[in-house]
Amino acid sequence: MVKRRTFLAAPPAMALGAASLPLTGLAAPAVLNSESRLLPPASKKPRVVICGGGWGGMTAARYVRQYVPNADVVLLERNPTFWSGPMSNKWLVDIVNTDFVHHDMTHAANKYGYRLIQTEVNGFDRAKRQVRTAHGVVDYDYLILSGGIRDDFEAWFGEDREAVAYTSKHFNSAYIPNAKMHTVKAKLKNFKGGTMVMTLPPPPHRCPPSPYERACLMAWHMKKNKIPGKILILDPKPKIGPIGEGYRQAFEELYPEIITHVPNAGVKSLDPYKKRIVTAAGEYDFDDAILMPPHQAADMVWHAGLIGKGADGKPTGWADMDPRYFTARSDDRVYFVGDVMGAISPQFGYYPKSAHVANAIGKIVARNISERVAGKEVVARLPDNLCYMMVNGDPQEEIAVKFDYAVDAASGHVHQTQIDLDVRTNDMVKEDFAWIKGRFDDFLF
Ligand SMILES: Cc1cc2nc3c(=O)[nH]c(=O)nc-3n(C[C@H](O)[C@H](O)[C@H](O)COP(=O)(O)OP(=O)(O)OC[C@H]3O[C@@H](n4cnc5c(N)ncnc54)[C@H](O)[C@@H]3O)c2cc1C
Repeated sequence: MVKRRTFLAAPPAMALGAASLPLTGLAAPAVLNSESRLLPPASKKPRVVICGGGWGGMTAARYVRQYVPNADVVLLERNPTFWSGPMSNKWLVDIVNTDFVHHDMTHAANKYGYRLIQTEVNGFDRAKRQVRTAHGVVDYDYLILSGGIRDDFEAWFGEDREAVAYTSKHFNSAYIPNAKMHTVKAKLKNFKGGTMVMTLPPPPHRCPPSPYERACLMAWHMKKNKIPGKILILDPKPKIGPIGEGYRQAFEELYPEIITHVPNAGVKSLDPYKKRIVTAAGEYDFDDAILMPPHQAADMVWHAGLIGKGADGKPTGWADMDPRYFTARSDDRVYFVGDVMGAISPQFGYYPKSAHVANAIGKIVARNISERVAGKEVVARLPDNLCYMMVNGDPQEEIAVKFDYAVDAASGHVHQTQIDLDVRTNDMVKEDFAWIKGRFDDFLF
């Protein structure tokens, strides 16, 4: 059982972060010059600044503190609390409670001994090794960017800001964990029937199997509550994947009247006001929708000027990095952790953009920095990946996918092996709950 959350009990100053001194103790927020220093300049201790306190950033903060005991570790996060993508689909339909998705962060900061500052990262001066935040400048010796993803609504609407804002407000997928997750939960609660459209982004995107899990659990909720709804999954891919066979069986055997999966249905245009969508596989009207535009690395990687370029000279949307050491190709003081990461291997492209991988890379990067600080040779290490997905709420049943990585001796490239566990079982539910407890115990509790 996951421990009860404590964020409600935290006093407001603590909820801002133990080190958010510029704001605490003041009668009214002072107008701060964003050029002023938020912290004193780094001392002789190496300062490691981590931007983004999600799965990857909180793991990195804990492990840099552990592996580089003399480091001054600073975690910058815009949200007052931690939000989790894993378990959030189950939370949407009340299979798990809020403790699984929303949690206090100050406990971990105090337990592991890093500074947590609640602020928005909005720029960098890499020549001066400085992060610019909403509350001032922070100097660094090593910088870790772990800001997760951003929604690329511009791919659909170009410069039409009104359409972007309207779609983000009314049809948000809440794939960026924050308070918007409540909006999706309320949408589902209030849904009285009709067609619910879900668009999937083109790969690579955050947690590839999870939109199908969401469809299954929404369908289970509709079935249980006798809501006369249909779910239309508009998928740009030619087939379901990963765990394609497990999901196909779940759709056909558990929800034949509810879920329709449409392959090759990349979005061509969308009218959010008239609730009409044109895809490569046909045109559809909807009553309500959860719309996922393409995903890209979070703004901070763009602000740092560290987005990769493809062979066509266009931005790849993801960090330009060394695939074995996770440093920026043009600046080895900068590391990437989690979903922001760029391409790894010609065989499979990107590591799955999953919490499991973010957690694993957070530890690997912490070790790499510790080796550098100690003047030792830096060892290249590989993650693994494991994702459990619930397809049935009663009886509770899950399927899963596992990825292993090794370096191919002939080519020198990282090689991926994928194992789909397509047969849904209750045992995998137990494994899933053990997995989340193990991960949260690792960096959050
Ligand atoms: C519905 C759903 C289900 C999922 N299920 C699973 C699963 O079962 N297993 C699994 O392994 N993965 C799962 N995932 C994927 C997982 O959530 C992500 O891969 C993981 O969160 C990536 O970690 P991250 O640290 O890169 O990003 P995040 O966890 O999103 O953290 C990024 C942090 O950076 C902060 N940030 C961003 N920009 C700024 C800024 N400018 N200033 C300050 N802070 C900033 C954000 O507020 C956020 O807290 C799921 C995701 C979703 C949406």
